[in-house]
Amino acid sequence: MKTELCNFCLKSGILCSKCQGKLKSGKVSDIDFTIARLLLSLEEKYPSLQDVHFHKAVDADRILAILVDKGDVPRLLSHGGKIVKALGEKTEKTIRVLEYGVAERKFLEDLFVPLNILTINKIWLPDGTTETRVILKRGRRKRIPNVKASKQIAKELRGITLRVEFAN
Ligand SMILES: [Zn+2]
Repeated sequence: MKTELCNFCLKSGILCSKCQGKLKSGKVSDIDFTIARLLLSLEEKYPSLQDVHFHKAVDADRILAILVDKGDVPRLLSHGGKIVKALGEKTEKTIRVLEYGVAERKFLEDLFVPLNILTINKIWLPDGTTETRVILKRGRRKRIPNVKASKQIAKELRGITLRVEFAN
């Protein structure tokens, strides 16, 4: 697995000065460190993790979003979904795997799976900031998404301020 932090630090749990600097500057967060260690510990059992580039993790309510490189999602979902299952059990969270560097629409679609997005548009506010409005199709039997967690994840990973609405 590739990350900002070095393998030595991830294995030992003790940070070298370089990694400590990254943590201090905010380039890497505590949760990134925790999840990177967890992923590395699973590498031996699930070798497909060796090629995964892990970017970031966001702990939002009951959801843990994991941002990996574009194209790494199948690697993380391989082994019959056992990696994601192990992550979910160890963190006691629902795991959401997202891709780094994809278009905004793709990012939002992945964020709200299994719900369908009807419309995405930008709203310009009087103070000059923007919000991204997402209108989701209200499914009959589908679970209601955790809107609060989704907003936090979009903000932290993409700097997007989300406004979520539903339509039939
Ligand atoms: Zn280090």
